[in-house]
Amino acid sequence: MMPFAYARAGDLDEAVRLGAEPGARYVAGCTNLVDLMKYFVEKPRKLVDINALPLRAIEELEGGGLRLGGLATNADTAYDARVQSRYPVVASAILAGASAQLRNAATNGGNLNQRTRCYYFYDIETACNKRTPGSGCGAIGGFNRIHAIQGASDQCIATHPSDLCVALLALDAEVRVIGPEGERVVPMVDYHRLPGDEPWRDNNLKHGEIVTAIDLPPEGFAPNHTYLKMRDRQSYAFALVSVAVVMRVEDGVIREGRVAMGGMAHKPWRVAEADALLTGKPIDADFVDVADALMAGAAGQGENDFKLDLAPRAIRRACSQAAAGTPQIQSDKRIV
Ligand code: SF4
Repeated sequence: MMPFAYARAGDLDEAVRLGAEPGARYVAGCTNLVDLMKYFVEKPRKLVDINALPLRAIEELEGGGLRLGGLATNADTAYDARVQSRYPVVASAILAGASAQLRNAATNGGNLNQRTRCYYFYDIETACNKRTPGSGCGAIGGFNRIHAIQGASDQCIATHPSDLCVALLALDAEVRVIGPEGERVVPMVDYHRLPGDEPWRDNNLKHGEIVTAIDLPPEGFAPNHTYLKMRDRQSYAFALVSVAVVMRVEDGVIREGRVAMGGMAHKPWRVAEADALLTGKPIDADFVDVADALMAGAAGQGENDFKLDLAPRAIRRACSQAAAGTPQIQSDKRIV
Protein backbone atom coordinates (compact mmCIF):
# COMPACT_ATOMS: atom_id res chain seq x y z
CA MET A 1 0.00 0.00 0.00
CA MET A 2 1.28 3.47 -0.88
CA PRO A 3 1.40 6.23 1.75
CA PHE A 4 -1.70 8.42 1.73
CA ALA A 5 -3.22 11.30 3.67
CA TYR A 6 -6.45 10.85 5.62
CA ALA A 7 -9.20 13.32 6.49
CA ARG A 8 -12.57 12.79 8.15
CA ALA A 9 -15.26 15.08 6.73
CA GLY A 10 -17.62 16.58 9.30
CA ASP A 11 -20.31 17.70 6.87
CA LEU A 12 -21.16 17.58 3.19
CA ASP A 13 -19.54 20.94 2.35
CA GLU A 14 -16.28 19.87 3.91
CA ALA A 15 -16.45 16.48 2.20
CA VAL A 16 -16.95 18.03 -1.22
CA ARG A 17 -14.16 20.54 -0.63
CA LEU A 18 -11.75 17.79 0.42
CA GLY A 19 -12.92 15.35 -2.24
CA ALA A 20 -12.35 17.88 -5.00
CA GLU A 21 -8.62 17.96 -4.26
CA PRO A 22 -6.48 16.26 -6.93
CA GLY A 23 -5.87 12.62 -6.08
CA ALA A 24 -8.53 12.51 -3.35
CA ARG A 25 -10.99 9.63 -3.05
CA TYR A 26 -13.97 9.11 -0.79
CA VAL A 27 -14.08 6.08 1.46
CA ALA A 28 -16.93 4.66 3.56
CA GLY A 29 -17.37 0.89 3.94
CA CYS A 30 -13.78 0.10 2.86
CA THR A 31 -14.88 -3.10 1.12
CA ASN A 32 -13.38 -2.40 -2.31
CA LEU A 33 -11.15 0.68 -2.51
CA VAL A 34 -8.96 -0.38 0.42
CA ASP A 35 -8.51 -3.85 -1.10
CA LEU A 36 -7.39 -2.21 -4.34
CA MET A 37 -4.97 0.02 -2.44
CA LYS A 38 -3.40 -3.05 -0.82
CA TYR A 39 -2.84 -4.48 -4.30
CA PHE A 40 -1.33 -1.16 -5.53
CA VAL A 41 -4.13 -0.93 -8.09
CA GLU A 42 -5.54 2.26 -6.56
CA LYS A 43 -3.11 4.88 -5.24
CA PRO A 44 -5.11 7.82 -3.90
CA ARG A 45 -3.12 10.68 -2.43
CA LYS A 46 -5.82 11.31 0.16
CA LEU A 47 -8.72 9.33 1.56
CA VAL A 48 -11.71 11.42 2.59
CA ASP A 49 -13.70 9.43 5.17
CA ILE A 50 -17.39 10.29 4.76
CA ASN A 51 -18.79 8.00 7.44
CA ALA A 52 -19.78 10.96 9.66
CA LEU A 53 -22.11 12.44 7.02
CA PRO A 54 -25.86 12.21 7.67
CA LEU A 55 -26.59 9.95 4.69
CA ARG A 56 -27.65 6.71 6.37
CA ALA A 57 -31.40 7.18 6.51
CA ILE A 58 -34.02 5.34 4.48
CA GLU A 59 -36.89 7.79 4.08
CA GLU A 60 -40.30 8.09 2.48
CA LEU A 61 -40.49 10.37 -0.56
CA GLU A 62 -43.42 12.62 -1.30
CA GLY A 63 -45.46 10.88 -3.94
CA GLY A 64 -44.82 7.39 -2.66
CA GLY A 65 -41.20 6.52 -3.42
CA LEU A 66 -38.42 5.61 -1.02
CA ARG A 67 -35.03 7.29 -0.61
CA LEU A 68 -32.09 5.02 0.22
CA GLY A 69 -29.26 6.93 1.87
CA GLY A 70 -25.94 6.78 0.08
CA LEU A 71 -24.31 5.65 3.33
CA ALA A 72 -27.06 3.23 4.36
CA THR A 73 -25.43 -0.17 4.48
CA ASN A 74 -26.46 -2.90 2.08
CA ALA A 75 -27.68 -4.94 5.09
CA ASP A 76 -29.79 -2.13 6.56
CA THR A 77 -31.30 -1.58 3.10
CA ALA A 78 -32.05 -5.23 2.42
CA TYR A 79 -33.67 -5.78 5.82
CA ASP A 80 -35.66 -2.53 5.93
CA ALA A 81 -39.32 -3.51 6.22
CA ARG A 82 -40.38 -0.99 3.54
CA VAL A 83 -37.77 -2.26 1.09
CA GLN A 84 -38.74 -5.86 1.76
CA SER A 85 -42.47 -5.28 1.32
CA ARG A 86 -42.52 -2.67 -1.46
CA TYR A 87 -39.23 -3.26 -3.32
CA PRO A 88 -38.42 -6.93 -2.76
CA VAL A 89 -36.34 -7.10 -5.95
CA VAL A 90 -33.89 -4.70 -4.27
CA ALA A 91 -33.72 -6.75 -1.08
CA SER A 92 -33.35 -9.96 -3.06
CA ALA A 93 -30.53 -8.59 -5.23
CA ILE A 94 -28.59 -7.32 -2.21
CA LEU A 95 -28.95 -10.62 -0.36
CA ALA A 96 -27.72 -12.48 -3.44
CA GLY A 97 -24.41 -10.65 -3.20
CA ALA A 98 -21.33 -10.76 -1.01
CA SER A 99 -21.37 -12.15 2.53
CA ALA A 100 -23.23 -11.03 5.64
CA GLN A 101 -20.08 -9.38 6.96
CA LEU A 102 -19.53 -7.44 3.75
CA ARG A 103 -23.17 -6.38 3.51
CA ASN A 104 -22.94 -5.04 7.05
CA ALA A 105 -20.09 -2.73 6.04
CA ALA A 106 -20.71 -1.94 2.37
CA THR A 107 -22.77 1.17 1.58
CA ASN A 108 -25.26 1.79 -1.18
CA GLY A 109 -23.11 4.51 -2.74
CA GLY A 110 -20.08 2.27 -2.62
CA ASN A 111 -22.03 -0.54 -4.22
CA LEU A 112 -22.72 1.66 -7.23
CA ASN A 113 -19.07 2.68 -7.48
CA GLN A 114 -17.38 -0.67 -6.87
CA ARG A 115 -14.93 -1.71 -9.54
CA THR A 116 -14.79 -4.72 -11.78
CA ARG A 117 -13.53 -8.04 -10.48
CA CYS A 118 -11.55 -8.75 -13.66
CA TYR A 119 -8.55 -10.82 -12.51
CA TYR A 120 -6.12 -8.78 -14.58
CA PHE A 121 -7.34 -5.48 -13.15
CA TYR A 122 -6.25 -6.70 -9.71
CA ASP A 123 -2.85 -8.02 -10.84
CA ILE A 124 -0.42 -5.17 -11.46
CA GLU A 125 1.99 -7.50 -13.24
CA THR A 126 -0.45 -7.85 -16.16
CA ALA A 127 -1.72 -5.59 -18.93
CA CYS A 128 -4.95 -3.75 -18.17
CA ASN A 129 -6.24 -0.65 -19.91
CA LYS A 130 -8.60 0.08 -17.05
CA ARG A 131 -5.79 0.17 -14.47
CA THR A 132 -3.01 1.43 -16.74
CA PRO A 133 -4.38 3.14 -19.87
CA GLY A 134 -2.65 2.04 -23.03
CA SER A 135 -1.11 -1.09 -21.52
CA GLY A 136 -3.45 -3.53 -23.28
CA CYS A 137 -6.04 -5.99 -22.04
CA GLY A 138 -4.92 -9.29 -20.59
CA ALA A 139 -8.45 -10.67 -20.62
CA ILE A 140 -8.82 -10.48 -24.40
CA GLY A 141 -7.43 -13.83 -25.47
CA GLY A 142 -6.71 -14.70 -21.82
CA PHE A 143 -8.79 -16.01 -18.93
CA ASN A 144 -12.18 -14.43 -19.48
CA ARG A 145 -14.78 -16.74 -17.93
CA ILE A 146 -16.43 -13.88 -16.03
CA HIS A 147 -16.21 -11.30 -18.79
CA ALA A 148 -18.68 -9.43 -20.98
CA ILE A 149 -20.72 -10.76 -23.85
CA GLN A 150 -22.41 -7.43 -24.54
CA GLY A 151 -21.09 -3.91 -25.05
CA ALA A 152 -17.38 -4.81 -24.90
CA SER A 153 -14.73 -2.85 -26.78
CA ASP A 154 -11.29 -3.72 -28.11
CA GLN A 155 -9.95 -1.91 -25.03
CA CYS A 156 -11.82 -3.72 -22.25
CA ILE A 157 -14.25 -6.63 -21.82
CA ALA A 158 -14.87 -6.28 -18.07
CA THR A 159 -18.26 -6.60 -16.37
CA HIS A 160 -19.78 -4.53 -13.59
CA PRO A 161 -19.99 -6.72 -10.48
CA SER A 162 -23.00 -5.28 -8.61
CA ASP A 163 -26.22 -7.15 -7.91
CA LEU A 164 -27.99 -4.16 -6.37
CA CYS A 165 -27.43 -2.03 -9.47
CA VAL A 166 -29.24 -4.56 -11.64
CA ALA A 167 -32.37 -4.27 -9.51
CA LEU A 168 -32.09 -0.49 -9.40
CA LEU A 169 -31.92 -0.37 -13.18
CA ALA A 170 -35.02 -2.53 -13.52
CA LEU A 171 -36.89 -0.15 -11.20
CA ASP A 172 -35.72 3.01 -13.02
CA ALA A 173 -34.15 4.36 -9.82
CA GLU A 174 -32.44 7.74 -9.74
CA VAL A 175 -29.08 8.54 -8.16
CA ARG A 176 -28.66 11.82 -6.31
CA VAL A 177 -25.12 13.21 -6.24
CA ILE A 178 -23.46 16.35 -4.95
CA GLY A 179 -20.09 17.74 -5.95
CA PRO A 180 -18.11 20.91 -6.59
CA GLU A 181 -20.64 21.98 -9.25
CA GLY A 182 -23.65 21.40 -7.01
CA GLU A 183 -26.35 18.73 -6.87
CA ARG A 184 -27.73 16.69 -9.74
CA VAL A 185 -29.87 13.64 -10.35
CA VAL A 186 -28.60 10.85 -12.60
CA PRO A 187 -31.07 8.26 -13.89
CA MET A 188 -29.76 4.78 -13.17
CA VAL A 189 -29.73 4.02 -16.88
CA ASP A 190 -27.16 6.81 -17.38
CA TYR A 191 -25.02 6.14 -14.31
CA HIS A 192 -22.66 3.44 -15.58
CA ARG A 193 -20.76 3.39 -18.87
CA LEU A 194 -19.65 0.97 -21.54
CA PRO A 195 -15.85 0.80 -21.83
CA GLY A 196 -15.45 2.26 -25.33
CA ASP A 197 -12.01 3.81 -25.65
CA GLU A 198 -12.01 5.08 -22.05
CA PRO A 199 -12.24 1.84 -20.05
CA TRP A 200 -10.84 3.49 -16.92
CA ARG A 201 -14.14 5.36 -16.55
CA ASP A 202 -16.66 3.05 -14.87
CA ASN A 203 -19.43 5.60 -14.50
CA ASN A 204 -20.42 9.17 -15.23
CA LEU A 205 -19.59 10.62 -11.82
CA LYS A 206 -17.35 13.68 -11.95
CA HIS A 207 -14.33 14.02 -9.70
CA GLY A 208 -15.40 15.10 -6.23
CA GLU A 209 -19.03 13.96 -6.51
CA ILE A 210 -20.61 11.92 -3.69
CA VAL A 211 -23.65 9.68 -3.98
CA THR A 212 -26.01 11.14 -1.38
CA ALA A 213 -29.04 8.94 -2.06
CA ILE A 214 -30.80 6.55 -4.42
CA ASP A 215 -34.46 7.34 -5.05
CA LEU A 216 -36.83 4.46 -5.75
CA PRO A 217 -39.99 5.37 -7.68
CA PRO A 218 -43.44 4.66 -6.20
CA GLU A 219 -43.98 1.47 -8.22
CA GLY A 220 -41.97 -1.37 -6.70
CA PHE A 221 -43.62 -4.29 -8.57
CA ALA A 222 -43.70 -6.36 -5.38
CA PRO A 223 -46.22 -9.00 -6.52
CA ASN A 224 -44.35 -9.89 -9.69
CA HIS A 225 -40.59 -9.69 -9.46
CA THR A 226 -37.51 -11.90 -9.28
CA TYR A 227 -33.74 -11.68 -9.04
CA LEU A 228 -32.12 -14.78 -10.49
CA LYS A 229 -28.35 -15.05 -10.06
CA MET A 230 -26.20 -17.69 -11.74
CA ARG A 231 -22.72 -18.10 -10.24
CA ASP A 232 -19.96 -20.62 -9.70
CA ARG A 233 -20.56 -20.87 -5.92
CA GLN A 234 -23.97 -20.36 -4.38
CA SER A 235 -22.39 -19.36 -1.07
CA TYR A 236 -20.46 -16.31 -2.25
CA ALA A 237 -19.54 -15.30 -5.77
CA PHE A 238 -20.11 -12.60 -8.33
CA ALA A 239 -22.70 -13.21 -11.02
CA LEU A 240 -21.80 -15.00 -14.20
CA VAL A 241 -25.26 -13.93 -15.33
CA SER A 242 -28.02 -12.37 -13.26
CA VAL A 243 -31.49 -11.22 -14.19
CA ALA A 244 -33.81 -8.79 -12.43
CA VAL A 245 -37.38 -8.83 -13.71
CA VAL A 246 -40.28 -6.67 -12.56
CA MET A 247 -43.79 -6.79 -13.99
CA ARG A 248 -47.28 -5.42 -13.47
CA VAL A 249 -49.73 -8.24 -14.16
CA GLU A 250 -53.50 -7.90 -14.52
CA ASP A 251 -55.91 -10.71 -15.37
CA GLY A 252 -53.10 -13.03 -16.40
CA VAL A 253 -51.58 -10.52 -18.81
CA ILE A 254 -48.35 -8.55 -18.40
CA ARG A 255 -49.26 -4.86 -18.66
CA GLU A 256 -45.73 -3.57 -18.07
CA GLY A 257 -42.40 -5.31 -17.60
CA ARG A 258 -38.70 -4.66 -17.38
CA VAL A 259 -35.64 -6.87 -17.50
CA ALA A 260 -32.14 -5.85 -16.38
CA MET A 261 -29.07 -8.05 -16.30
CA GLY A 262 -25.75 -8.40 -14.52
CA GLY A 263 -22.62 -10.25 -15.59
CA MET A 264 -23.30 -9.26 -19.17
CA ALA A 265 -21.50 -5.98 -19.76
CA HIS A 266 -19.43 -3.14 -18.35
CA LYS A 267 -22.69 -1.78 -16.99
CA PRO A 268 -26.00 -3.35 -15.93
CA TRP A 269 -27.64 -4.39 -19.19
CA ARG A 270 -31.12 -3.42 -20.32
CA VAL A 271 -32.70 -3.29 -23.79
CA ALA A 272 -35.82 -1.21 -24.40
CA GLU A 273 -37.10 -3.60 -27.07
CA ALA A 274 -37.09 -6.47 -24.59
CA ASP A 275 -39.18 -4.48 -22.13
CA ALA A 276 -41.64 -3.57 -24.88
CA LEU A 277 -41.99 -7.22 -25.87
CA LEU A 278 -43.23 -8.10 -22.40
CA THR A 279 -46.25 -5.83 -22.69
CA GLY A 280 -49.38 -7.77 -23.54
CA LYS A 281 -47.87 -11.22 -23.09
CA PRO A 282 -49.76 -13.88 -21.11
CA ILE A 283 -47.98 -14.90 -17.94
CA ASP A 284 -47.33 -18.40 -19.30
CA ALA A 285 -45.46 -17.13 -22.40
CA ASP A 286 -42.12 -18.71 -23.27
CA PHE A 287 -40.32 -15.32 -23.42
CA VAL A 288 -38.02 -16.48 -26.22
CA ASP A 289 -38.34 -13.19 -28.08
CA VAL A 290 -37.52 -11.23 -24.91
CA ALA A 291 -34.35 -13.29 -24.50
CA ASP A 292 -33.49 -12.80 -28.16
CA ALA A 293 -33.81 -9.02 -27.81
CA LEU A 294 -31.51 -8.93 -24.78
CA MET A 295 -28.99 -11.20 -26.49
CA ALA A 296 -28.93 -9.41 -29.87
CA GLY A 297 -25.33 -8.79 -30.88
CA ALA A 298 -23.90 -10.83 -27.98
CA ALA A 299 -20.45 -12.29 -28.55
CA GLY A 300 -18.30 -14.58 -26.44
CA GLN A 301 -14.61 -14.11 -25.73
CA GLY A 302 -13.68 -17.80 -25.63
CA GLU A 303 -13.86 -18.99 -22.03
CA ASN A 304 -17.13 -17.17 -21.46
CA ASP A 305 -18.88 -18.58 -24.53
CA PHE A 306 -21.08 -20.63 -22.18
CA LYS A 307 -22.83 -17.39 -21.25
CA LEU A 308 -24.34 -17.28 -24.74
CA ASP A 309 -26.41 -20.32 -23.75
CA LEU A 310 -26.75 -19.60 -20.04
CA ALA A 311 -28.02 -16.03 -20.36
CA PRO A 312 -31.09 -16.62 -22.55
CA ARG A 313 -32.14 -19.56 -20.39
CA ALA A 314 -31.75 -17.40 -17.28
CA ILE A 315 -33.82 -14.63 -18.89
CA ARG A 316 -36.65 -17.00 -19.72
CA ARG A 317 -36.54 -18.59 -16.26
CA ALA A 318 -36.56 -15.20 -14.54
CA CYS A 319 -39.44 -13.90 -16.65
CA SER A 320 -41.47 -17.02 -15.84
CA GLN A 321 -40.69 -16.68 -12.12
CA ALA A 322 -41.76 -13.02 -12.09
CA ALA A 323 -44.87 -13.61 -14.17
CA ALA A 324 -45.99 -16.46 -11.91
CA GLY A 325 -45.30 -14.45 -8.77
CA THR A 326 -42.81 -17.08 -7.57
CA PRO A 327 -39.62 -15.05 -7.07
CA GLN A 328 -36.21 -16.60 -6.63
CA ILE A 329 -35.57 -16.92 -2.88
CA GLN A 330 -32.12 -15.70 -1.84
CA SER A 331 -32.21 -16.85 1.77
CA ASP A 332 -31.61 -20.48 0.82
CA LYS A 333 -30.01 -19.59 -2.53
CA ARG A 334 -31.42 -22.60 -4.32
CA ILE A 335 -32.40 -22.30 -7.96
CA VAL A 336 -36.13 -23.03 -7.97
FE1 SF4 B 1 -8.38 -4.53 -17.70
FE2 SF4 B 1 -10.82 -4.42 -18.74
FE3 SF4 B 1 -9.00 -5.92 -19.88
FE4 SF4 B 1 -9.93 -6.60 -17.47
S1 SF4 B 1 -11.10 -6.59 -19.33
S2 SF4 B 1 -7.77 -6.61 -18.20
S3 SF4 B 1 -10.33 -4.61 -16.57
S4 SF4 B 1 -8.92 -3.70 -19.69
